[in-house]
Amino acid sequence: MSFVIDAQILNIPKAELHVHIEGTVTPDMARRKAGENNIRLDPAIFSADGARYQWRDFYHLVTDVYSEMARAIRTRQDYEDITYDYLTRCAAEGSIYEELIIWCSQGDAVGLSYADMVEGMAAAIDRAETNTGIIARLNTALVRHQPFENVRREAETIAAYPHPYIVGLDLAGGECSGDIPQYQPLFDLIFARFGRPLGMRLHAGEAAGPENIRAALALHPAPLRIGHGVRCIEDEALVQELVARKVVLEICPTSNVLAGIYNSYANHPLRRLQDAGVRICLNADDPGLFGCSLAGEYQVARDHFGFSDHELMQSTRTALAAAFCDDLTRQTLLSQRAFVPGLRDP
Ligand SMILES: [Zn+2]
Repeated sequence: MSFVIDAQILNIPKAELHVHIEGTVTPDMARRKAGENNIRLDPAIFSADGARYQWRDFYHLVTDVYSEMARAIRTRQDYEDITYDYLTRCAAEGSIYEELIIWCSQGDAVGLSYADMVEGMAAAIDRAETNTGIIARLNTALVRHQPFENVRREAETIAAYPHPYIVGLDLAGGECSGDIPQYQPLFDLIFARFGRPLGMRLHAGEAAGPENIRAALALHPAPLRIGHGVRCIEDEALVQELVARKVVLEICPTSNVLAGIYNSYANHPLRRLQDAGVRICLNADDPGLFGCSLAGEYQVARDHFGFSDHELMQSTRTALAAAFCDDLTRQTLLSQRAFVPGLRDP
């Protein structure tokens, strides 16, 4: 899949709430980091021409291919480099705000502490803001496709390291493993010890169906945002509940199509959710893995779902309204020149 982004799309200010840091790593960056770290990556994760990643199915992608590629990212400097690379690419395509997802235990897998991983990313966030103006914050994630005891250790690690750029908490990883309610005590532990409020979002309604979204909404506090959530479309009452509760769905159309959740944009429910009044924002999810970008997703929304400029701007405004950053940062972003009357909601 290739994306041609026109000038009008590039000029629209954008904001992204759902992107996994290791998932931003392009094949070129993975090979560069593998070389620097003297790691031999399985060549089967790349296409024959080396230009993209390849996978058999969704599970193979999110577990085997993802973790094999992520083995190349091993040091604090690596996390700084990949974060800076992504943020500057986003800024060049008109993004003004990014929330990046960290898998807490990913650092453990390569012998890197969680603090080093976060500090590398924080250094890149500062440098990217200085050089381009883009603002970024972090969402830290419990990863559910592992034994519960490991997830409990992740919760302890997260609770003990309240870096100021960590603004949100996520439950990510293979959605079909682990019932959501069992993680409530871990969320409670983090909220009790972190020392300041954290925004709450869960991955739900992507690989698994509406029942996972309902389970997410039953947590305390209920998440304000759902990662993906697109399969709510299978349950009309749930769609109405999401509208009534003003829950934001972080929708990643290209990710959903390439990961096989839907077999084409034509069958993706983005337009139906938008028309039903669900609050949505557009996201790239794993842009390095998929060869897509945030601006590319805005282009896809225009070309395949008929989004107007107004609807694209609405995605940006929804993302900024639902961002987990502090209110001063949010007001700074919303007061940028791009939001002057004329582009505002009528
Ligand atoms: Zn995700």
